[in-house]
Amino acid sequence: MVTVDELFAIDSLLTDTERQIRDTVRAFGEQRLRPHVADWFEQGTFPARELAPELGALGLLGMHLDGYGCAGTSATEYGVACMELEAVDSGVRSMVSVQGSLAMTAIHEYGTEEQKQHWLPQMAAGRALGCFGLTEPDFGSNPGGMRTRAVRDGADWVLNGSKMWITNGSVADIAVVWARTEEGVRGFLVPAGTPGFTAREMHRKLSLRASVTAELDLDGVRLPGDALLPDGKGLSAPLGCLSEARFGIVFGALGAAADCLTAAIDYARTREVFDKPLAAYQLTQAKLADMAVELGKGQLLALHLGRLKDRGELRPEQVSAGKLNSTREAIAIARQCRTILGANGITLDYPVLRHANNLESVLTYEGTAEVHQLVLGEALTGSKAFR
Ligand SMILES: Cc1cc2nc3c(=O)[nH]c(=O)nc-3n(C[C@H](O)[C@H](O)[C@H](O)COP(=O)(O)OP(=O)(O)OC[C@H]3O[C@@H](n4cnc5c(N)ncnc54)[C@H](O)[C@@H]3O)c2cc1C
Repeated sequence: MVTVDELFAIDSLLTDTERQIRDTVRAFGEQRLRPHVADWFEQGTFPARELAPELGALGLLGMHLDGYGCAGTSATEYGVACMELEAVDSGVRSMVSVQGSLAMTAIHEYGTEEQKQHWLPQMAAGRALGCFGLTEPDFGSNPGGMRTRAVRDGADWVLNGSKMWITNGSVADIAVVWARTEEGVRGFLVPAGTPGFTAREMHRKLSLRASVTAELDLDGVRLPGDALLPDGKGLSAPLGCLSEARFGIVFGALGAAADCLTAAIDYARTREVFDKPLAAYQLTQAKLADMAVELGKGQLLALHLGRLKDRGELRPEQVSAGKLNSTREAIAIARQCRTILGANGITLDYPVLRHANNLESVLTYEGTAEVHQLVLGEALTGSKAFR
């Protein structure tokens, strides 16, 4: 018997450091997260504040950023870590992605030296949590339509508006909020507890239940002038952060798919139907073979994109191709694995439907599948078809 990794000789493509990171994060996930994750999912909770210092100690928060207490790993090493975290649950990887790729990247790329010195070391250590508020109730795929406004009042800024679907929102110490100003879209650092700023956790989710999602309300929030991120101007600033987070998803979603496939193969080898193991039926083997091929192809593409990023050559439409492929194939694999587990597949005793439900969010956030098709369509034809 071979694993999918062995089938595609994935190990031979990884460096020693990448293998070491994979093994360390996998061990942490198995020991510290997996025993609890089904309960967190069932209860709709995630102990973000409790886990953050442990994730920080492993160097996983803002791990691909340089300086300020960040681990400064390569992009591919970050991707490998995302894959292992999401093998446990997309909620865990989402928390790490939002902290590192969105909130910390925004401060790292667009902040002042004082903002970086103040926030990044404590965020890298997991002593402070961040969130990234771009989406609004009426503007998700088209953030350029945002209604949240920031206006100058003397040396201060005053923000009004609301943000929705914000990961880590109600547990964050610092919210990176994007708002329309007279000079276009700008980013602001809004500390929790600022008068007029409220974050309410959203409930009744059927996906990403082991993750904190919140609605942010900004009602006359007065911020000092130095709350502005000076170097992020226009919509390209938040979109730059999103491209970083999408890169993590290219790897992460495949971790969830790999976990489903492992569960389905284990199950098929022991479950007897019509007097022999389910794994011994051609129909089952066809499903497993097709899923293994898609998973392996996805991993090879992710590694290729990782190498391009490490060489500084990765283009946004290539990230779109990876995000589209990984999320679309991962959700198809999770659903197909569920069929192999029959009725058991719909319970939290197995990870497959939990992953499949999580992947609905992963398919949707950081640009929906359709948005990435449109990005690729534009790259291939030269015609924009967003409107
Ligand atoms: C669990 C979760 C966590 C999230 N975390 C964050 C976060 O931390 N920060 C943040 O800012 N946002 C976050 N989001 C929001 C996420 O980024 C948005 O949900 C996403 O961008 C899609 O926006 P929407 O939900 O408003 O859908 P819409 O934009 O309303 O899209 C609805 C449908 O229309 C399609 N569509 C849109 N435009 C076109 C078009 N031009 N042509 C054809 N079809 C189109 C879409 O693909 C989709 O199928 C999160 C979402 C979820 C579910």
